Amino acid sequence: MAHVQLKHVYKRFANGVVAVQDFDLQIEDGEFLVLVGPSGCGKTTTLRMIAGLASISEGELWIGDRLVNDVHPKDRDIAMVFQNYGLYPHLTAYDNMAFGLKLRKTPKAVIEEKVREAAQVLNIEHLLARKPKALSGGQRQRVALGRAIVREPQVFLMDEPLSNLDALLRAQLRTEIAKLHQRMQATVIYVTHDQTEAMTMGTRIVVMKEGVVQQVGTPQDVYNRPQNMFVASFIGAPAMNFLSGRLQVAGDEMFFQSASFQIAIPVQRQTRLREAGALNMPLILGIRPEDLIADQDIRETTDRALLPAAVERVELLGAEKHVHLRALGQSMIARVPARSEIEANSSVTLTLLNDRIHLFDALTEESIF
Ligand code: ATP
Repeated sequence: MAHVQLKHVYKRFANGVVAVQDFDLQIEDGEFLVLVGPSGCGKTTTLRMIAGLASISEGELWIGDRLVNDVHPKDRDIAMVFQNYGLYPHLTAYDNMAFGLKLRKTPKAVIEEKVREAAQVLNIEHLLARKPKALSGGQRQRVALGRAIVREPQVFLMDEPLSNLDALLRAQLRTEIAKLHQRMQATVIYVTHDQTEAMTMGTRIVVMKEGVVQQVGTPQDVYNRPQNMFVASFIGAPAMNFLSGRLQVAGDEMFFQSASFQIAIPVQRQTRLREAGALNMPLILGIRPEDLIADQDIRETTDRALLPAAVERVELLGAEKHVHLRALGQSMIARVPARSEIEANSSVTLTLLNDRIHLFDALTEESIF
């Protein structure tokens, strides 16, 4: 396997669109790197440049210790798995998997062994004689994965391979791809717009927006320390809640103040906030739905650390409920256990866990850690 390095890579299309800007990252040997972001952010274009299916406008691409900007896709030692499977309809599952090896004149016995072994790993041994149209979506995607595996490439590129599948199959194949990665210790670069896939599969995640990398980190890093409001709201479902306000100081204490609501800032964060000049700037406080406690028993409050809210809607998701709220004129969501008795059209009081709050500069939207 091999590492992949993108050095200040740009993609400019003829129509003036800059789809990827200054992408600069080393992807380590054996890593499962996920590129995630909303539609049009440049994920697929980045993957296509690595595959050699799109040219690189500026910058360098290295696979292992080879500069491959001008190397033909078939000579890059990569295998790609697509959203729409990309299988040959007239060939059986077996022949689809064997195709790349046959082209390379691999001996028949070796092909047989590799295809059988991959089929066993993917649990499709009984389907090898079927053509794609006689396979379900999940089975077709397994064949497509099998075709990539038998080639034993240095790098696997996967472009939304699960997005044509239903939720249950997606969850199942997600786990299987992750296991496959562990077993093969392969370098995988995986594109998705689904933040759950990114969080559960990636050893590292790259969050992109409008062609620009916003943050690179482990799923935990990105979730716990989002570098800006875009990352904070894109990673995590339901999304992070935001409230605008300012910091205020009273004696030794520091508060985040928003209309009539205030919340104490933990002492250990105060110095850093002062150093960052946060006392003088408009701020946005971010709080994840699980760090917001909605309490029905406190109906009225004069406590400025408690936030009165109106419950607009409650969604039951099996193990938990999502409570859609309105507080200080803004929409918020709290995540509560399914046993909670909170109902729509009632009033609740919110407590924000103050060691879990995020603060952002309201103008730049960058986090102030
Ligand atoms: P999606 O999740 O919808 O596939 P994406 O993040 O993969 O989106 P890209 O397909 O990489 O995004 O597209 C990035 C930008 O480049 C978009 O604005 C898109 O319209 C533009 N783009 C893509 N291909 C071309 C092309 N061949 N010519 C011009 N512009 C293009």
